[in-house]
Amino acid sequence: MEQGLSRAVTTATTLLASSGTRPLRWIADLIQNRNSQGKGILCSVVCSMSCCLAVSTAYSSPLINVGFSGDNGQLSSYYSPITRELVVAATAWEDLFVSGNAFTLNVNVIFDNSPTANAGSLFSTVLYSTGPLSVFRQGAVDTVLTGVHNPSGPYDAAIHIGTSYLTNELWFDPNPANNDSVPIDKTDAESIFLHEFGHIFAFNGNRDQFTGALSTNAESEFDDLVSFINNSPYFIGSYAESVYGGPVPLTVGNIYHVGNPSGPGADLETYPGDLMNGNIFFRGSRYNISAVDAAIAADLGLVVEIAEPDTIAIFCVSLVGFWLTRCSRRSVEARI
Ligand SMILES: [Zn+2]
Repeated sequence: MEQGLSRAVTTATTLLASSGTRPLRWIADLIQNRNSQGKGILCSVVCSMSCCLAVSTAYSSPLINVGFSGDNGQLSSYYSPITRELVVAATAWEDLFVSGNAFTLNVNVIFDNSPTANAGSLFSTVLYSTGPLSVFRQGAVDTVLTGVHNPSGPYDAAIHIGTSYLTNELWFDPNPANNDSVPIDKTDAESIFLHEFGHIFAFNGNRDQFTGALSTNAESEFDDLVSFINNSPYFIGSYAESVYGGPVPLTVGNIYHVGNPSGPGADLETYPGDLMNGNIFFRGSRYNISAVDAAIAADLGLVVEIAEPDTIAIFCVSLVGFWLTRCSRRSVEARI
């Protein structure tokens, strides 16, 4: 991620094309339910976290345990706000694919000189083999589903945060239970962490970002559904294709993201852009998991309560897109 120049945004555009076909009930319901229940979930999580803070070690919650490194304690004032927003972000994704209680994920927050932030699962789980090729999923998924932890270290996932990005750019909502506006000159930390958990659970793999070539004989479930069409990368999962209306354009040179500012998937970059877009994050804006993101997760087996693919249609997706644009706020841009 990089910082970008400021520019005013005056129009809001739906993220997704509309169609007159039958509703995509499960994704629409799933996202709307999460939206309506979000404050309650958030409150319970934060309350649970507060209890943990009061009686035991700091910076843990039922969903995540967070360890910090790279700062020698100098950024300790950020530990609590970071943990709070990480819990919100983890909750949003885990609501998609965890039925019942999630097991605790051990997360290492590493402060370094990254221009923005990046993240990934620290281990993987092989699901099956096809000839010499093995297909894996992000180990962090198994952690929250079954309690299996990284066999090679104390943490299941890592998030790198640039110290300058943290102190000069990110905004931490002082009152997450309310829907406070993100300042127009700041990037919303919750949105960034939601993006990063997308990488930890799903949007990741072993392919070369430009050529798509596998670096080993192992590929992620996401990799398995990447296809190059006219030299451009696409995600070809059936749920995602049904929601988007065809293969979902991935970001050229940054393929574990969706959309391109010009070219395939430009609609996914239109203000404010998809949560998992690979180009721009606007300041002053709050992002949410989109219908396309949720459908990609479904194609990776990460969504519970899904219908058969032939029941999927696009009509409600346009409504979800409209909802997203209404939820978003305007202002200036930052790059991711
Ligand atoms: Zn990313």
